[in-house]
Amino acid sequence: MSRVLSSAHVHTTFCDGKSTAREMAQAAYERGFVSLGFSSHAPQTFDPAHCIDPSREDVYKAEIRAIQQEYAGRMAVYLGMERDMLSCSDPQSLDYFIASVHYFITPDGGHSGVDAPSNVMRRYVDEYCEGSGIEMARRYFTLMREYVIQSRPAIIGHFDLVRYNNAALGLYDENSDVYRNMALDALRDMRDTDALLEVNTGGVARGYMTEPYPAAFLLSAWKEWGGEVIINSDCHYAPLIDGGYSQAEELLLSLGYDHIVRLSADPEKGMWEQASLE
Ligand SMILES: [Zn+2]
Ligand SMILES: [Zn+2]
Repeated sequence: MSRVLSSAHVHTTFCDGKSTAREMAQAAYERGFVSLGFSSHAPQTFDPAHCIDPSREDVYKAEIRAIQQEYAGRMAVYLGMERDMLSCSDPQSLDYFIASVHYFITPDGGHSGVDAPSNVMRRYVDEYCEGSGIEMARRYFTLMREYVIQSRPAIIGHFDLVRYNNAALGLYDENSDVYRNMALDALRDMRDTDALLEVNTGGVARGYMTEPYPAAFLLSAWKEWGGEVIINSDCHYAPLIDGGYSQAEELLLSLGYDHIVRLSADPEKGMWEQASLE
């Protein structure tokens, strides 16, 4: 039985999720969650299938606030978004947001997805990185570092999403010093923002990753630096609301973590609280 009982990273039919917001809330409640944060992809001017339709942003906010009222006293519900550096709406009216990098900008002004199908990634590396996977990874971590430091999110989303296509394409060696050091350098610079580092189980739950983001060496370093972590399911389908949580908890315990941070069960006492893993 998971001790986390919360997710601050959930997608619904407002963006690219398969379940409605109410189905997500119901699944979380039935699983005994103490809190739930909705984090639809923020509106953007391209790739509309993956984000909130800009004309429906107010509908999204009103719907989550209504669900928040419905569950008041039973499960704390929060209004968030997962934002990218290319998102175009104002985060002011949200309870929190997650900062993620999902796209590279191409020289012709287009976009190429970090977690796009492998043929799209292959083309990006071949056409714009002279075939070098490690150069692509360097660009990814540069964007991630810049965006987190500039935007000051509550949560750093799937820090090493750049691994998404690596098992299939073998773009770079995840164990090489050059890769590890570029990831560590970017993460170290984010530590000063006091953002929570997300342990994202979405890939494990959906079966395309064998371990959560980020890799264990990054979680170890984060602990050494005194950083706090949050376990999130990046859920797109209600039955997977806590998919992969047991594995993430075991991983954190093995690395010496004894607690995680989650959205607070009681909003009156603050947005965030610690939950023991032991
Ligand atoms: Zn994401
Ligand atoms: Zn997400």
